[in-house]
Amino acid sequence: MADTVTSRLSGFHKLPMADRLGTVSTMFRLSIEEQNAIGGEKSLTFDMANTMIENAIGVFGLPLGLGLNLQVNGRDYVVPMAVEEPSVIAAVSFAAKIVREGGGFIAEADDPVMIGQVQVTNYGDPTVAAHKLVEHKEQLLALANSFHPSMLTRGGGARDIEVRVLPAPEGPRGEPLLIVHLLIDTQEAMGANLINTMAEGVAPLVEQITGGKVYLRILSNLADRRLARSTCRIPVTALADFDMSGEAIAEGIVQASRFASADPYRAATHNKGIMNGIDAMAIATGQDWRAIEAGAHAFAARDGQYRPLSTWTLEEGHLVGRIELPLALGTVGGPIKIHPQVQAALKMLRVTSARELSTVMASVGLSQNFAAVRALGSVGIQKGHMAMHARCVAVTAGARGLMIEQVANGLVQAGQVKVEKAREILALLTREAGAQEAP
Ligand code: NDP
Repeated sequence: MADTVTSRLSGFHKLPMADRLGTVSTMFRLSIEEQNAIGGEKSLTFDMANTMIENAIGVFGLPLGLGLNLQVNGRDYVVPMAVEEPSVIAAVSFAAKIVREGGGFIAEADDPVMIGQVQVTNYGDPTVAAHKLVEHKEQLLALANSFHPSMLTRGGGARDIEVRVLPAPEGPRGEPLLIVHLLIDTQEAMGANLINTMAEGVAPLVEQITGGKVYLRILSNLADRRLARSTCRIPVTALADFDMSGEAIAEGIVQASRFASADPYRAATHNKGIMNGIDAMAIATGQDWRAIEAGAHAFAARDGQYRPLSTWTLEEGHLVGRIELPLALGTVGGPIKIHPQVQAALKMLRVTSARELSTVMASVGLSQNFAAVRALGSVGIQKGHMAMHARCVAVTAGARGLMIEQVANGLVQAGQVKVEKAREILALLTREAGAQEAP
């Protein structure tokens, strides 16, 4: 049956907010409860919040929007994004529109294999201890899996071990570090809890095998066995804008990519742009976004220099973007089955697995990055960004209701997106409105 869902919702941003929700509610057949959850009326209750964290005193709100136009592996995705920063959702939607016209994103993700680390000390000879651990691999795996047999039933569980001997940080006089990695297939879960259970569970056997003492037993957030990759190919001719040729815009993007590859100061900001989209989607879908952030940045520095997570090159008349990063995501676990907005967000996203979720998230990151480098390599980001930022400045200056848009327009026309200017415009508009109402 043909897919009736499209992420190409032309004019969506011009609709009143209630009509936007109405449009997606019809498209995704959202129940009244789901609509109320998304609209914030029946979102996270105080009782739920109280079960999720300690010392809860309330529930914190963030705007929830939809990234549009995204097409990954031929499938349309409407992307829920929770973010406080203006421009992020507009940028991702704009970029995804250009990419879809060039054929959309092609993406893939590895099996959901995570690493649990066990640190061994006082083990004697590192080579002998490492050898003994490898010899007992099957016993260690069986013990790890005995702590979570349901993961084996699902086709996951502990699959392999690796033993690493690392130089002592104090120098040659210190004991080298002996670290056991448990490689665990976490299936549909991000996996932190089940990994930690297995890592703690095997520790006594690791001590028995090595004669040493185990200290730390915890997952690694450098989830480099669980990478997601996305690629897009945009015809250079499709890039023409701002009275500039496609070639000129493409050159600016390639230069931006070269800059980030050579310079960590630039790479940090390049990657922050990528994470704008990834974090927003991660929050809306209930992911551990601190884990995603930690993994992304550790991966970016894997060869000793902090580098960009994405690159842009010119290939046969096309601008080709590529991104690769660890994405430890889940469709179960943590707050995912508890938080009503997360549930509704995942329903709209229509992903059937954590791997599929990773392909979409990597593509969102690449879209976000494309929008940023396209503007940075040509006219700069401030023009577009300040137009969006103007509304926040208008609210900060005291504008409410219809006045917000009017003050924001006044700021953009004046070319000064500043609170003081917004107060001036607001005072003028208020006086004019008062004069009109006077008998
Ligand atoms: P949970 O323990 O909440 O959920 C995972 C559990 O879901 C599994 O153990 C399994 O339990 C169950 N499950 C049901 N269906 C499936 C399926 N198809 N595939 C896999 N598991 C399934 O979460 P995680 O273990 O994923 O851990 C994530 C949480 O841990 C997040 O909240 C994170 O913030 C937190 N955390 C993160 C840390 C970090 O360093 N990043 C450290 C510590 C915690 P069963 O087999 O019993 O059904």
